[in-house]
Amino acid sequence: MDLSHILFHLGEERDRYAGAVAPPVFQASNFAQPTVAAMRAAIAREYEHPLYTRGANPTAAVLRRKLAALEGTEDALVFGSGAAAVAAAVVAAVGQGDHVVCVDKPYSWTRQLLAGLLPRFGIASDFVDARDPATVAEALRPTTRLIVLESPNSMTFEQQDLAAIAAIARSRGLLTMIDNSWASPLGQSPAAFGIDVIVHSGTKYLAGHGDVVFGAVCASRAFCETVFRGPYMTLGAILSPHDAWLALRGLRTLAVRMQRIADSTRRVLAFLERHPKVRRVFHPHAGGYGQPDLTERQLRLASGLLSIELDTDLDGVERVVDALERFLIAVSWGGFESLAFPAAAWRDWRGREAECPVPVSLVRLSIGLEDPQVLIADLDQALSRA
Ligand SMILES: *Cc1c(COP(=O)(O)O)cnc(C)c1O
Repeated sequence: MDLSHILFHLGEERDRYAGAVAPPVFQASNFAQPTVAAMRAAIAREYEHPLYTRGANPTAAVLRRKLAALEGTEDALVFGSGAAAVAAAVVAAVGQGDHVVCVDKPYSWTRQLLAGLLPRFGIASDFVDARDPATVAEALRPTTRLIVLESPNSMTFEQQDLAAIAAIARSRGLLTMIDNSWASPLGQSPAAFGIDVIVHSGTKYLAGHGDVVFGAVCASRAFCETVFRGPYMTLGAILSPHDAWLALRGLRTLAVRMQRIADSTRRVLAFLERHPKVRRVFHPHAGGYGQPDLTERQLRLASGLLSIELDTDLDGVERVVDALERFLIAVSWGGFESLAFPAAAWRDWRGREAECPVPVSLVRLSIGLEDPQVLIADLDQALSRA
């Protein structure tokens, strides 16, 4: 199936809605059934049959079909946030007494789930530097059920060897899960390397317009049904029909956005790599950084999220970021608009810089859809304040 077919046509039952090129927003909490027998069947098939919008909704169903096709999985579920998708997948995979092995620098709220919330329910986690698959194998315990990956992670972009870790997990009957938000399904296909469960913060590239918070779990039909009958229905962190529609609207341009972002990012990287005030550039496609063989094998596109470490003190970092005119100072990433986020903004690290989980002078940049020359000129003038 070609990409534009997935993005433009798959899952859209246009004959059912007057040929409308964009699907309707099924803004309904509830779906009436014609008879008691039909109601009985609808309850039995709630996973796919519209009965009540906390379960299946026809607008969300279009999005589910497309996301599963993009990731090459049997099915997908959508959620009201990426954090909800991560939590639902993890909770469906583990129970009391189980153990999780996770990469050492996951998304902050993934860490909070595993290290802060789940221990209260008897689920333990270890965080390991997973750049070497042997480290993951060594961290496994008899009670380990799940391996949680983020390749690359979203501040310093370390990668993991997906095929090697999937093989280790398969040989022991463990489930593997990856947060694929950074690469997007266009940049990396974890299922092709044997990863079982792929989660997304769709807030970022999938929706791509800075107007929706959403998440997805892409996996086998059996795993999606387990999630559906468990945390999906009980916690109820669903994507509203209107937000599902906005996500579909954003997805139409995913291919052109990701291509533009990849081209611009390569030009921004080339500029930053030779700037005297930039000590290090963190990005899998930056020269001299990361794991080039994994980048070659696993990544098809340069994502637009990168970090730089500046050759200055914290006041210098603040001056540079404040001087940016085309980058908004904000968290999140993956939208049309370019953003800057300095690690120093997490709190006042002056005097205790060693506690910062990443280099404290690190500034994360999200490259948007602007003319790359405009972004480079802006970075150039801001860096002169360092
Ligand atoms: C933003 C983000 C999340 C959480 O997604 P929300 O949609 O904000 O809940 C998870 N993982 C990564 C890598 C993220 O950047």
